[in-house]
Amino acid sequence: MYAAIEAGGTKFVCAHGRDADSLTISDPIPTTTPQETMAKLAAFFAGLKIKRAGIACFGPLDIAQGRIAPLTPKLGWRNFPIQKAIEKILGCPAILDTDVNGAALGEHLWGAAQKSKHFVYVTVGTGIGGGAMLSGQILHGKMHPEIGHMRIRRFTGDAYPGHCPIHGDCLEGLACGPAIAARWNQPQAELLTASHPAWPLEAHYLGQMTVNLTCAYSPELLILGGGIGLRKGMVEMVRQTAAQEMNGYAPLPRIVRAKLGSRAGVLGALALAIRNKV
Ligand SMILES: [Zn+2]
Repeated sequence: MYAAIEAGGTKFVCAHGRDADSLTISDPIPTTTPQETMAKLAAFFAGLKIKRAGIACFGPLDIAQGRIAPLTPKLGWRNFPIQKAIEKILGCPAILDTDVNGAALGEHLWGAAQKSKHFVYVTVGTGIGGGAMLSGQILHGKMHPEIGHMRIRRFTGDAYPGHCPIHGDCLEGLACGPAIAARWNQPQAELLTASHPAWPLEAHYLGQMTVNLTCAYSPELLILGGGIGLRKGMVEMVRQTAAQEMNGYAPLPRIVRAKLGSRAGVLGALALAIRNKV
């Protein structure tokens, strides 16, 4: 039996089971202090014999050290050795990776990337994050890729300064959900109508992202997830804007919608446990 732990910045969701179809999933556990959250996690898994655990975790992470990196804005979690803490609670090895790398692996095992070894998964919602698989291996760098902070060109006439506290108008700063909400003065970006100019502008920025990812990684597939990425018509618009931006230079990947939806987090964690290495 595997343990799957979706460790989010606001809540943890835990699950156990043999595969994606036989999961018992916990109620959400609020991400308060490590001590409190770990105690509730331990109660959920109490008495179970677990072979291996996967932790799909909020970042930034120091994966080599199995820790939450000191850069995290969540003060109590800075340097918390989450991998060792969970291995001790469960009495088994645990595999730690970012939530987006987990989701990418989940799409590979059960979702939109089942037949692909070279793909990028990007979630566009409250933030923008992604994971890339090349030649069947999830890419890891010194830390982990922060796709959302790539720099892009601002569209002529877009005066919104940007949402990113570090860069202002990086990709995430211009194209995440809160940026759309702030630019158009609509508290919930999802409520903007289908014909609103917010969406062609969004597709313009995601088209630039697609070109950048294609030039860097040459994926055969780009999977868009998250509340904005999964919006009706977004994939189709991004195909068009990416083709304009690429201007015939290199073949674009197929662009498709993510398939795991709200289960991306917990299935991503399960995928980490099952694959054992990423
Ligand atoms: Zn940024």
